[in-house]
Amino acid sequence: MAALEAPLLAVLRCPACRGGLEPPGGQGVLACRACGARYACREGTPILLEAGTARELIEARERFYAREIRAPRLALLARRLAPPKVCAWGREGAAVRAALSEAVPAGRPPVGLNIGHAGPRAAPWVYNADIGPYPGVDVVLDALRLPVGDGTLDAVLCFRVIEHVRDPARLVAEVHRALRPGARAHFVVPFLEPYHLAPADYFRASEDGVRELFRGFEDLRVEVAAGPSATLAWVLMEWLSVGLPGSGHPLVYGAAKAFWGWVLYPLRWLDAWFRRRPRSAKVANSFYVCARKPR
Ligand SMILES: [Zn+2]
Repeated sequence: MAALEAPLLAVLRCPACRGGLEPPGGQGVLACRACGARYACREGTPILLEAGTARELIEARERFYAREIRAPRLALLARRLAPPKVCAWGREGAAVRAALSEAVPAGRPPVGLNIGHAGPRAAPWVYNADIGPYPGVDVVLDALRLPVGDGTLDAVLCFRVIEHVRDPARLVAEVHRALRPGARAHFVVPFLEPYHLAPADYFRASEDGVRELFRGFEDLRVEVAAGPSATLAWVLMEWLSVGLPGSGHPLVYGAAKAFWGWVLYPLRWLDAWFRRRPRSAKVANSFYVCARKPR
């Protein structure tokens, strides 16, 4: 059974009042020292959601499954057969690794959050955070109300998540509040990307929109993450699948996407060419954003 790591516990706060939390006792419950609210901690993963938020998230997920997956098993199989949606250029991966190695402060264990990520950790001290207790998630939270103290995080990663939160500006403001001065935020923000549920899709931003969103930060870098070819492949895949007779049925639509997704997949490799073209941002699939909180 995994244990809640001390450096993470040290920055966690009550999502309702930002009061400090008592470490989980024998019952696996974190209690707020200020307001008395209690939060479950399952197998070392604290569930730091306010009661209303937890209910809303569960309902949203149920609506998503009811709407998208009416023939559950076959439609789910078709989804699994579909190729990965985007072929990122990988620049953000190398840039983030370099930034994380510089982000470690002297004299205390560093703590970062990777919001909306459930895979392997980007660094041993960058904890995975998501809205559900999925495998590999270190803390369950609402990204619009981060349960951490002001100025406590040494890095935040948030890749392809901002389009799925109801208030993108508030997410960026929360990350700004949570970072220590001088620490960096790393985002991937979609631009020309078809609608995709997870369980809802609210937002896109151009390069100018990204710069406006992160205006409270300094040393802002905005680069194309996935390029014009990823845009074209994804739009063509949807165009061919949506236009198919019977595409209203999730199984037909899912199977068409899996087929066209693989047929069109090689198109994405053309992004190696577009990478060197200065106007690629005009039709980019998504942007990698690296921004520093002012010292
Ligand atoms: Zn509280």
